[in-house]
Amino acid sequence: MTRAWRRRFARVHFTGLLLWAVVACAGAGWLVHARLQQLREAFETDARIVHRLLSQRVVQHDAVMATLALLQPPEPGATPDAARATEEATAASPLPRLPSVYPQILSVLQRPAGGAWPTALQPALAAAEAASRQSGHAEMALPDLPAGRYHLVLASTPASYALQIDLRMTIPRDEWPMAMDSSPVRVTLAQGGTAFVVQPGRTEPGRWGLGWSYGFHKLLAAPSQPLDVVAQRHVGLRELPWLGMLGWCVLTAALWAAGRALWRQRIARQRAEELLRLGQVARLNTLGELAAGMAHELNQPLTALLSSTQAAQRLLADDPPDLETAQTAMARAVEQARRASTVVGRLRRLVERPDLSAQAQPLHLATALQDVLHLLEPELAQRAIAAEVTVAPDLAPVLAEPVALQQIIHNLLMNAMQAMEQVPPAERRLTLRLSARDGTRIALSVRDHGPGVPPEAREHLFEPFFTTRSGGLGLGLTLCESLAQAMGASLELAPAAPGNAAAQRGAEFVLVLPAAPGTPAAAPPSPQP
Ligand code: ADP
Repeated sequence: MTRAWRRRFARVHFTGLLLWAVVACAGAGWLVHARLQQLREAFETDARIVHRLLSQRVVQHDAVMATLALLQPPEPGATPDAARATEEATAASPLPRLPSVYPQILSVLQRPAGGAWPTALQPALAAAEAASRQSGHAEMALPDLPAGRYHLVLASTPASYALQIDLRMTIPRDEWPMAMDSSPVRVTLAQGGTAFVVQPGRTEPGRWGLGWSYGFHKLLAAPSQPLDVVAQRHVGLRELPWLGMLGWCVLTAALWAAGRALWRQRIARQRAEELLRLGQVARLNTLGELAAGMAHELNQPLTALLSSTQAAQRLLADDPPDLETAQTAMARAVEQARRASTVVGRLRRLVERPDLSAQAQPLHLATALQDVLHLLEPELAQRAIAAEVTVAPDLAPVLAEPVALQQIIHNLLMNAMQAMEQVPPAERRLTLRLSARDGTRIALSVRDHGPGVPPEAREHLFEPFFTTRSGGLGLGLTLCESLAQAMGASLELAPAAPGNAAAQRGAEFVLVLPAAPGTPAAAPPSPQP
């Protein structure tokens, strides 16, 4: 693989990897977002249910107190009938039975008319009673929230009442929306900096303190017991949908790999098609070369025939000559020979290549070279040949017929590869150099490190049917040369480098093409003063 191709492959590889990473991250991000959204919604729903349930429970306390206030003992100065009725009611007083009906009511206290609250609780209960008288509803007293206890005092006439509440018993466990012991949601009832823990939840911040926190707080819907329902939820990294994210990454990676395999398949198919096309063109051109070679071969005996008959004609002219017969025969022979020569000439014209210069167009030699290298990539890799491409900076485009140019380069590279099969893999180096020549031409040098061309073969290389390879046709270089000439270019074998044997190793073919007009090749060297 050439360096440029390796770079291009690495770039494509890197871009693909980057694209995959972006898609994988975006998908994983979306999954995290959806999960967090779902957890938040579940949390808020649970918190609202908890608030409603607890509000319903504490509102019952107000109802109980209101009932107690209705069942008052007789007021001093009441009529005997009324007093009797009240006495009967007192005899059936629900006070002792209340805690058994409402387990959250620990005790019921009554401050009789003109009496006082039990001494130990007197100041607090009296203050709450006064507040209740003002607000018109029950008031909390002696709160001990960590223990989940408080008193609820309702001022009434003649007697006032106080209930001691145990919050632990107010929790409706059967209707509770969460598993109390294992749920990660923490629920407390807070007031004045202290709180009763309804549900412990999970409060640790998670590994490295990373995670998301949700909060909810709202006062109970009972003005007599202004306790704040506080719910908190911490979502740690552990709760993210790792399995889903992993699945997504694997899926996108598999899709990416499948896409890459398809892309590679497409490239391979394109390469095969291109090789086939080049092969077809080569075959057609080879046929042409064959015909041209045959014409060349035929022309020689015909020319000889012509000259010998002319000699015979001269001999016949000697004494005693049968001038009439000999001249007629010779004239006919000459005429036949000329006719044969004309036929050959016509055949030659028939197989003559069309003028490629008419189809020439400006194109970049470096691109054409890269395209052929890409085509031959498997062959180069198979023979462990490293291709080194050097391109002079700011090279102008050349004027060439694209297919013919590709075919010349293809033939030269195939020849170089075949030549290097004779040397050990470690020594197989292919040097390709693009450079400007005197400002109007661009040269491509193809240099291999094979055995090189022996001196006696140098002058025959471009002759049709000259080959040293078993199975070779000896038409490749001939074809390349005639294609080059048809485009106004030239192809030649560079002279062997003088110096040591190592420097002389290998063969160098140089293709020189005209630069496209209007786009001068790299500036010619400035004249010396
Ligand atoms: P073929 O490859 O069929 O022999 P070519 O016209 O391509 O026909 O080559 C003619 C001959 O030129 C080859 O047989 C080989 O002897 C010689 N030749 C061509 N390229 C090289 C090269 N890079 N190194 C050494 N000899 C070469």
